[in-house]
Amino acid sequence: MARRKFGRGTHKCIRCGRYGHVYQQYGLKLCRRCFRELAPKMGFKKYG
Ligand SMILES: [Zn+2]
Repeated sequence: MARRKFGRGTHKCIRCGRYGHVYQQYGLKLCRRCFRELAPKMGFKKYG
């Protein structure tokens, strides 16, 4: 297995602090899970 650390394409979620698929929209860096939780509260439309 490759010894790859977090490189391009991987970002840190500003809410839960986990790395993974993070959306960088609206100037935010939220993972899929957090985004879906926060989006409605912030007035964003449903994503996907
Ligand atoms: Zn998150």
